[in-house]
Amino acid sequence: MENKVFAHEVRVGNIPIGGENKIAIQSMTNVPVGDIQASVNQCKQLFDAGADLVRLSVPRTPDIESLRLVKKQLEADGYKKPLVADVHFSSQIAEECARIVEKVRINPGNYIDKRANFKELNLSDYEYNLELEKIHDRLLPLIKVCREYGTAIRIGSNHGSLSDRILSRYGNTARGMVEAAMEFISIFGAENFHNLVISMKASNVKVMTESCELLTQRMIETGYVYPQHLGVTEAGAGNDARIKSCLGIAYLLNKGIGDTIRVSLTENPVNEITFAKKFMSAFGEKKAYSTQNVNSSYTGIVNFSPKAIDTETAISETCISLANSLIDRKITTLQINGNIAGIDNKDFVADIMQAAGICISKAEFISCPGCGRTNYDLERISEAVKREFSHLKGLKIATMGCVVNGPGEMADADYGCVGSTKDHVIIYKGQTPVIRDVPQDNAVEMLKKVIADNGDWKEK
Ligand code: SF4
Repeated sequence: MENKVFAHEVRVGNIPIGGENKIAIQSMTNVPVGDIQASVNQCKQLFDAGADLVRLSVPRTPDIESLRLVKKQLEADGYKKPLVADVHFSSQIAEECARIVEKVRINPGNYIDKRANFKELNLSDYEYNLELEKIHDRLLPLIKVCREYGTAIRIGSNHGSLSDRILSRYGNTARGMVEAAMEFISIFGAENFHNLVISMKASNVKVMTESCELLTQRMIETGYVYPQHLGVTEAGAGNDARIKSCLGIAYLLNKGIGDTIRVSLTENPVNEITFAKKFMSAFGEKKAYSTQNVNSSYTGIVNFSPKAIDTETAISETCISLANSLIDRKITTLQINGNIAGIDNKDFVADIMQAAGICISKAEFISCPGCGRTNYDLERISEAVKREFSHLKGLKIATMGCVVNGPGEMADADYGCVGSTKDHVIIYKGQTPVIRDVPQDNAVEMLKKVIADNGDWKEK
C-alpha cells in the first residue's frame, strides 16, 4: 500500500470509520422496508455474516415508520450495529430518518436539485451561487437533527445521477461527481458539522477510481479529509461483477484511499458480505500468489498458488496484485498459470481485461444490486439478459431495479431493462423508454426486439 490517507474519524453508532480503524464492510437490504419482518430477517443475516453496517432504502413517507419498527425490532433482538437510511429526493424523509438510524445517505444530485432532465442550464456565477445558498438553507434542518441525535451523513455522488446544474458546468465526469460532493461538504463545513462520509460511485471502474482520487486531492487541499466509502456501482452478478468491484476497490486501497467498502452484487446481499470479507482478508494478507509484472513486454503473469483455494479468494488476490498496473495501463496482456476450481483461466483473463477497460471481448453488463424499490425479479432477469446477449460485443446493456433511479444510473448504456410496476419492466434504448408495461417474463424477448429493430442484433 502507498501511504495511507488518514481520514478524520467519524462515528456511525458504535462503528468508527476513518482514522486508523479497520475498513468497515457494508451491504444493503433488497426487500422493501415496508415488509418489516423480511427487512429485520435480512438485516440479521447480513450482520451475522459480518456486516458492520446495513443500509435500507426509504423511498416514501410511510416507510419512515417501517424503518422505526425495523430498528426497534433489531435492537430488541440484540442487534446493536448501525443502520443507514438511503434517501433520494426528499429532505423531509432524510430529516426524519436521522432521528431513527445512525447514518443517512443523501445524494447531492437529487437532494435539493430536481432529477436531471439533461437540459443545458446556462447559469451565471451569481445564479449558480443563489442555487448554492438555497441548498445551504435546505440542509440546515438536517444538520440540526444530526447534531442533536449524533447521526452521520454520507454524501453519495453517483456518476449517473448528477443534477443538471452540475452536468451543465462540469459534464457527466469524475470532476462533476467530485464538485457535487464538495459543494455539500463546504456547506456542512460552514456549519461546523463534520460527521460525514463521502462516496463517489460509478459502474465504470476507471471513472470510479479517478473520482475517488480527485476527491482525495480536493479534500487534502481544503485541509479536512473525510472517510471514503468505496464501491463500483451496478457491477452486476457473478465473477465479472466481483472482478470489477475488486479492481476498483483494490486500486484505491492500494493507494491508501478508502475507509469502508461495499461490494455491489445483483445477488443475495449476504453474498456481498461473504465476498467483501474474503477480499479484505486477502488484502490484509496479500500473500498466496506469485505475481510478476514483466514491464518490458507489458505482460502481467499470475501464477496461481498450487494449493486449492476458492474462486472468490483467487479473484480477490489476483485483482489486489494487478489492479494498479492494469488501471494505470502498465499491463496490456495477461497470462494466468495454474488451476483454481470454478475459474476458467481464459474467461478470467477476458473478464479482468474488460473490467480494466483494456480489451473488450463481450457485451458489457451493468445491473444494480436491487433494493427496497425493486419491484420485479431483478436477479433472474439480469441473469437471463447476460446469457442471451453476452455475444453482442461492444454493446452496453443494463438491467436496473427501478424507474426512479435506474434510467439515470445506467448512464451510458445502449439498451436497458428497468423495473416499473409490479413484475413489469420498461425497455429502453439509451435514455429513451421504447416499450412500456412489459411483463418480466417477456423482458428478454422485447429487449431482443428493440436491439434488432435498431440494427444491433447478431446471431451467436
Ligand atoms: S436503481 Fe436499483 S439499487 Fe438504485 S434505487 Fe433503483 S432498485 Fe434500488
